[in-house]
Amino acid sequence: MTIRKNTVQSITKRRPHRVKFTKKMPNQYFGCRTFNDHEQQERLPKNAYKKLKNTIKTGAPLDNSITDHVASAMKSWAIEQGATHYAHWFQPLTGLTAEKHDSFFSFSKGDPIMEFSDKQLIQGEPDASSFPSGGIRQTFEARGYTAWDPTSPAFILEAGLGFTLFIPTVFCSYLGDALDMKTPLMKSQACLATSAKKLLKLMGREVDNVFPTTGLEQEYFLIDDEFYNQRPDLIASGRTLFGNSPLKGQELDDHYFGSIPQRVLRFMQDSERALYELGVPVKTRHNEVAPNQFELASIFEPTNLAVDHNLLVMIIMKEIAHKHKFRMITHEKPFKGVNGCGKHSNWSLCDSEGHNLLDPGDTPHKNLEFITFLAAVVRAIDLWPALFRISIATASNDHRLGAHEAPPAILSVFLGDQLTQVIQNLISDDSDENFPAKKPIELGVSTLPPLPRDNSDRNRTCPFAFTGNKFEFRSLGANQNASAPNYILNTVVAESIDYISDLLTDSLTNSDITVSKALESILKDIFKKHQRVIYNGDGYSDDWTKEAAKRGLPNYKTLVDAVEHYDSPEAIRLFDKYKIMNNREVVARKNVRLEKYITEIMIETRSMLEIANTIILPAALKQQESLANSIKAVKIIFQSGYAMNSTKNQESRLSELSSLIESLLASVNELAKCNPHQQGDDHLAQARYTKDDIIPKMNGLRDIVDVMELIIDDSLWPMPKYREILSII
Ligand code: ADP
Ligand code: MG
Repeated sequence: MTIRKNTVQSITKRRPHRVKFTKKMPNQYFGCRTFNDHEQQERLPKNAYKKLKNTIKTGAPLDNSITDHVASAMKSWAIEQGATHYAHWFQPLTGLTAEKHDSFFSFSKGDPIMEFSDKQLIQGEPDASSFPSGGIRQTFEARGYTAWDPTSPAFILEAGLGFTLFIPTVFCSYLGDALDMKTPLMKSQACLATSAKKLLKLMGREVDNVFPTTGLEQEYFLIDDEFYNQRPDLIASGRTLFGNSPLKGQELDDHYFGSIPQRVLRFMQDSERALYELGVPVKTRHNEVAPNQFELASIFEPTNLAVDHNLLVMIIMKEIAHKHKFRMITHEKPFKGVNGCGKHSNWSLCDSEGHNLLDPGDTPHKNLEFITFLAAVVRAIDLWPALFRISIATASNDHRLGAHEAPPAILSVFLGDQLTQVIQNLISDDSDENFPAKKPIELGVSTLPPLPRDNSDRNRTCPFAFTGNKFEFRSLGANQNASAPNYILNTVVAESIDYISDLLTDSLTNSDITVSKALESILKDIFKKHQRVIYNGDGYSDDWTKEAAKRGLPNYKTLVDAVEHYDSPEAIRLFDKYKIMNNREVVARKNVRLEKYITEIMIETRSMLEIANTIILPAALKQQESLANSIKAVKIIFQSGYAMNSTKNQESRLSELSSLIESLLASVNELAKCNPHQQGDDHLAQARYTKDDIIPKMNGLRDIVDVMELIIDDSLWPMPKYREILSII
């Protein structure tokens, strides 16, 4: 029996991993592995607790005098939980998380003790030289610092045989340049708070704080460990570089929201339990569109926390998947011809009184505050499409965007009919006194309750959709850190809010107009100028691509097309004005993106070459030999006059296979010659060459192998096929 058949047999015999059932409800153990509000209140002196809470709630500067109390309380809590070590947990520009473990163990006058000072809490110094810096630092300038983020609770993870206290931190260089994803996000939240508070005050409402909220939905595939281990392409690059669509894929739409397989459900329950313990408010689980594709969504939180928690979701679920003999795949396009994986980032603004600034209420046309913030967002999206595209740009996400499954690469806003009407009325000075009230949905069956109707229907084809009381940015890649799209959004919206504040201040100083009259005229101008970005139709259609071009909306199809705008003079000015990033930091990020793009594609290229040469070619040669021998044997028999027949079709199959083998070798030789570094030192030139020369050659090689897969003896085919990987679980 072939290895593949063996694998299939052993997977079908698998029993679901045993997870102990507990009657405990999540609310009883939620956050029990975090240094949460309850622990802080119990263990800190009253005054220290109050000051810490104030920093967390309002973003006020941290009072240095409380840090030794916090360190000591955190240590005693962590040690009670069995933690022997602590780790500063940070988010370098790799897009992953990093951690450096240190023991609490130390000596005091020769005696062994467990120690944790405020200095150790506040600051760490991991060697930064091996993290991408995009040229901010030379390798010999190794110092990098981590600094405690008090707004994201420390948590304890079970690792190996013990427990470790994880402290969320930012990460910067010796000169203070950010080397991570978290720093700009935190800065952008502070800017947004300042801008929004100022505008609200002008509008006559004073609040202590305004902060962005984010709710992240995470898509992923689950495949069996054994299949994974037999696919060197998946192991090396996170995606399959060869393979044909499964015989039955997603055509029947029967997987979406289908019943969840037992083995998968246990994995989900196991993961959810661990995540609740870590204070991650997970909420929704369901089957996604593609076979073996699933989704988990968390309840929204302040953005910084939501981003940290989404990173934890990915880490914990990947680890637990392994325990259940699965691999959790979060690559954006692991299987060709099958739906890819995204991450949806739902975003809104909340004030310290718990009021959602993007909640239209029942009468949006009368809700000036809502329309004002809506206008700020619409303007921001229209003004900064390149930055949004950059914030979600990776080599892997290029496979999704615009490929008739994920949202298109063209950035537009969906508002739905009702809000679009509100805006049209505002622009054309039409009265909307008789605005149609929302009618409940009547089902026509008297025993069924009438359903309340949402403000708008959904539109899944739009990258940035208003969904009732928040915006949903759907273009994020499943594997990415959600920071960048959120800090870009926070920053450009802050800029838009300030634009409105400045105009409003001018109007109010120069005339005795009322705030609402002044605002109406400002908002009218904004919508007039920026309404081109609003589109409620089908974002997948060719008509939209044409229409968008007519409206002057850019279509950055790939990372390379977008990233060159990262350090445009306007972008540099924007980041500088809001102190999100300095010039050096922006250029560094651009370089890191380009380097990563090139490196990832070169890893894929090497994987393809090795698989084609050493795994596919031998199978093809065997098939060729067996076909040739078979034809030869038949001919010998025919020659002896035993029977009359022709081998015409068999010979043509042999010739087809032979020419495929020839093309494969030619294609492999061509691809092996490609080297982006021959383009000189310019990252952009290297990336362009990678996109325009290497990727088409990779696609060519794949096409050849994929045809081979369809004609080579199944028992000779050396790697698990999609039809196995995606249907057996
Ligand atoms: P869908 O799959 O239809 O997009 P889900 O219910 O799976 O919707 O996810 C909606 C997400 O939006 C959840 O993460 C939810 O917590 C989040 N969300 C709801 N209200 C807000 C808000 N005010 N700010 C940010 N996110 C929100
Ligand atoms: Mg969604």
